[in-house]
Amino acid sequence: MTQPFVPAKRTIMTPGPVEAEPRVLRAMSTPILGQFDPLFTSIMNDVMEDLRRVFQTSNHWAFPIDGTSRSGLEAVLCSIIHPGDKVLVPVFGRFGQLLTEIAERYGAEVFTMECEWGTVFEPAEVIDEIERIQPHIAAAVHGETSTGCLQPLQEIGRCCRDMGSLFVVDAVASLGGTDVKVDEWYIDAAIAGTQKCLSVPSGMAPITYNERVEQVVNARKKVERGIATAEDELEKRKQPPIASNYFDLSQLQDYWSPRRLNHHTEATSMLYGLQEGIRIVLEEGLADRFKRHRFHEQALRAGLQAMGLSLYADHDAKLPMVTCVNIPANVDGNAIRHLMLEQFGVEIAASFGPLKGKIWRIGTMGYSCRRENVLFTLSALEAALLSHHVPIYAGHAVQKALEVYQRNTEGVQKS
Ligand SMILES: *Cc1c(COP(=O)(O)O)cnc(C)c1O
Repeated sequence: MTQPFVPAKRTIMTPGPVEAEPRVLRAMSTPILGQFDPLFTSIMNDVMEDLRRVFQTSNHWAFPIDGTSRSGLEAVLCSIIHPGDKVLVPVFGRFGQLLTEIAERYGAEVFTMECEWGTVFEPAEVIDEIERIQPHIAAAVHGETSTGCLQPLQEIGRCCRDMGSLFVVDAVASLGGTDVKVDEWYIDAAIAGTQKCLSVPSGMAPITYNERVEQVVNARKKVERGIATAEDELEKRKQPPIASNYFDLSQLQDYWSPRRLNHHTEATSMLYGLQEGIRIVLEEGLADRFKRHRFHEQALRAGLQAMGLSLYADHDAKLPMVTCVNIPANVDGNAIRHLMLEQFGVEIAASFGPLKGKIWRIGTMGYSCRRENVLFTLSALEAALLSHHVPIYAGHAVQKALEVYQRNTEGVQKS
């Protein structure tokens, strides 16, 4: 007899995937409903309604793409990029490069601008480029998990609206952890992820987009077989159809509308999980949830600094839910991480590209963002550093974090 699978207990403090809300996991283990069952389609409608609230938008379209977050990025980009379109991407980390890569594959003429990793752009710099290049689309990351930075978006969005460019935002790391004001910031399409601040397993990408995007998408709709008119055919030749079947928003819209046209088989259990996850976000309340993320970040920072560690990208544009720590000189960052995982079951993240071996990244996202996790992570990190004979101030980290918790209990009502 094989035993049922039970994974080891972990404290996950990475920038994703993070620990799933227990209620979400329970929802996901409930029985399957058919994808056209009225009970299921009413869940779809509820999810759309709740997603609008989380994205702070009055857009009609707000639904998940089945696939990880990059499936959402790809669905939006491939549905609006015509070959030869100019796309501008301000790159300030790994995920800006991903936007560039996807746009190139769909035939865009891509313009990038770069700033030093660990910083963000002055909106005016981006605005100058938008005015110079006049792109069809500007695509930017909001919370860059690779560097722990948060790009201010509102002025950039305003400029795109004035210039007639579409503004696409990767809010994968930020949605559910800090404000993402889709309407107020003039964002035409925003893409999120489940396994970050929503604390749902990886596998869906909630997106939202407005009428400006919908118009582009509808103009590229493949003519339905049998009902094509000569006019449709002409129109079709002017506007090349979307180059992906799976990610064709014009078809996905038809399943997420009362027409309920079949596209692919909906990921039923994932949708149960997403529904529960965003209900929890709304029950907590956006403002309280964002405050909680700030509060635990503050305790974590206090602890790290009390050990004598320095933070990377510690400025106004620091991402509240990712704290990057400079790995002290001559320390093998991976050896420390492995000890934390093997002995304590605590996972923190390494980094990529130019930051590989230079920083650790500690996430405080969604359900993982709670007091016991912060205190346990500080203990594990301190013990791992001491065990590797790294000179730190021993015995202070947890005390400093505790001081933050004891001074202000307001932010920890929920944890
Ligand atoms: C995690 C992340 C992604 C990619 O998400 P996947 O779910 O792995 O596809 C994209 N953008 C940002 C900013 C992220 O943090």
